[in-house]
Amino acid sequence: PENEKSSAKQVKIKTVGDNVPPALSTFDLMKKTYSLSPVLMENLNKSGYTEPTPIQTQAIPVMLQKRQIFACAPTGSGKTAAFLVPVIHHLNKPLNKGFRALIVSPTRELAKQTLRECTRLCEGIGLRAHTFTKINKDKEKFNPKLAQKFDILIATPNRLVFLLQQEPPAVELDNIEWLIIDESDKLFETGVRGFRDQLATIYKACGPNAKRAMFSATYTVEVAKWSKKNLDGLVAVTVGNRNT
Ligand code: ADP
Ligand code: MG
Repeated sequence: PENEKSSAKQVKIKTVGDNVPPALSTFDLMKKTYSLSPVLMENLNKSGYTEPTPIQTQAIPVMLQKRQIFACAPTGSGKTAAFLVPVIHHLNKPLNKGFRALIVSPTRELAKQTLRECTRLCEGIGLRAHTFTKINKDKEKFNPKLAQKFDILIATPNRLVFLLQQEPPAVELDNIEWLIIDESDKLFETGVRGFRDQLATIYKACGPNAKRAMFSATYTVEVAKWSKKNLDGLVAVTVGNRNT
């Protein structure tokens, strides 16, 4: 079923999928409907996020229901918090069992930026996020035993695949519950099969129960097709016009 709605600001939000949870127009409604923690609400507030952006109104409820998602909304529309809020809600508190969420970013710069936002939204919750820095140091530091204290990993695909291909693997993804592919349109652009293969390697390492979420700024047929084929129970959310 397809559905198209206009929010108060006349932004079109289009959804495709079965039983799509309703968009929620305020963070307060999200808190009431899904029991978001007061600390997380406070962190949103402290970030100056008083009301959700259009993509957040729809993507957050979808992910809070643990539905896999393909989300498409313009640059600058708040996609980072759209995936961080539900991920932080689901991880809830540190468990000392290593990475439970993985965010794949096309560049180190974006990874660092996402880390900053994640750290801010995790304040007082105790969840810890990490991104890799120097490659040799990482091989020592991120043997599976020492990575226990982190809950969220933010990484570029090249670095991640390099670490996964060490013998034994230098990063463990067995406990990943959410795999987020940020700027998936850009990642799918890199070479003919390049990122598909990397994604397959990453997904295999994640174990069978990991939920996947694809976020991108442009609607590309490639990512849409890949998502339809690979993500069970998919909800596709598009904000604004499709701009391929
Ligand atoms: P995108 O990933 O879609 O390009 P970002 O997640 O980087 O967008 O967000 C763009 C800017 O909007 C950032 O400065 C972010 O802090 C801000 N932002 C995100 N969500 C909200 C919100 N609900 N209210 C106000 N500002 C927000
Ligand atoms: Mg972004």
